Amino acid sequence: MDPLIPTYARLPVAFTHGKGAWLYDSDSQAYLDALAGIAVCNLGHAHPEIAEALADQARKLLHVSNLYHIPIQERLAERLCATTGMEAAFFCNSGAEANEAAIKIARRYGHDRGLTEPAVVVADGAFHGRTLGALAATGNPKVREGFAPLPGGFVRVPYGDAAAAAAAGDRAEIAAVLVEPIQGEGGVVVPPAGWLRELRALCDQRGWLLMLDEIQTGIGRTGKLLACHHDGVTPDVLTLAKGLGNGVPIGACLVRGPAAGVLGPGSHGTTFGGNPLAARAALTVLDIVERDGVADRAARLGERMMDRLHTELDGTVGAHPGVAEIRGRGLMIGIELTVDAAPLVRQALQQGLLINVTAGNVVRLLPPLILTDGEADRIAVEVAALIRHHLAAASV
Ligand code: PLP
Repeated sequence: MDPLIPTYARLPVAFTHGKGAWLYDSDSQAYLDALAGIAVCNLGHAHPEIAEALADQARKLLHVSNLYHIPIQERLAERLCATTGMEAAFFCNSGAEANEAAIKIARRYGHDRGLTEPAVVVADGAFHGRTLGALAATGNPKVREGFAPLPGGFVRVPYGDAAAAAAAGDRAEIAAVLVEPIQGEGGVVVPPAGWLRELRALCDQRGWLLMLDEIQTGIGRTGKLLACHHDGVTPDVLTLAKGLGNGVPIGACLVRGPAAGVLGPGSHGTTFGGNPLAARAALTVLDIVERDGVADRAARLGERMMDRLHTELDGTVGAHPGVAEIRGRGLMIGIELTVDAAPLVRQALQQGLLINVTAGNVVRLLPPLILTDGEADRIAVEVAALIRHHLAAASV
């Protein structure tokens, strides 16, 4: 019997080590990684400075619990606040947990303002995690199926539609809006320009908290440290995870303005969250991201890959079967096909390339942000060739 509960249909490969944008299996076969552990290893695999920092920290102190001051956790909070415009942080161990903290903040905030049933506006197609609160906020019915009863208190509106978010106020007592600046699992969905600014204005006008889930888009992925920086918008609550620890599990829920001061002693907690090892990992990641201009690199490489994909897929865009759209920002790229794209994952794997397909027909590329130009070109060329071949076969 499988010793693991089979929550994942795993691909037939196991990696033994990695370096930069490459992973290696036990036969020393090399794989070019265009997924980065699902937008986690933004600085690539086995980064020497991260390895050294973790080893150094492990020799000193791994964990003490949040019953004591943890100076390195406080330094990380100060650092994150200074770069994001937020005021205070709660650290946890995953994206779902960061969103749970956000949802609890929204509810407390609502109760503090006299709402009896405070609700959170969420979007169709959203993905916020697998724990019950985050699952209730998630839009994909397939992910939610079989887990009723889920917590209530969420009002769902179309993604990218600020008027619909405003109208949610007629359906419930709204305390907050929780959205992804670009939807990841939902299919790399880029909202209309100006939407985040409209949401910011709406929340200011109504006294709602603007809560941004930057778990997938954050830490340089879209070409800025945060995706909301493209719009000059600062949220009241910001959730991070994935790239923050480059593989060491850490999540963060940051607050400012009206969301600061909502949670006090005893209102929320975690045994592991923000322990010295995780905090050291995240501080080291932020040092490298800033020093090496990693977000700018993601912006430049993203444009390069998009251009190359458009060139290589010329003639298939708009054709049937074909490519419906190539979209994304920085190194968060989706290629939407008019046919099922799932078979491409195994075909790519056989060629030594790791890609992902989400929402059934969207090839998703989330490579490490430290790719070389040559590696970026190689991914674009190989992915385009696989897609052309797949489309040709689909018309037979
Ligand atoms: N939010 C977003 C936008 C995500 O992409 C994910 C994971 O894919 C999550 C939340 C959940 O994060 P985790 O799997 O670390 O709980």
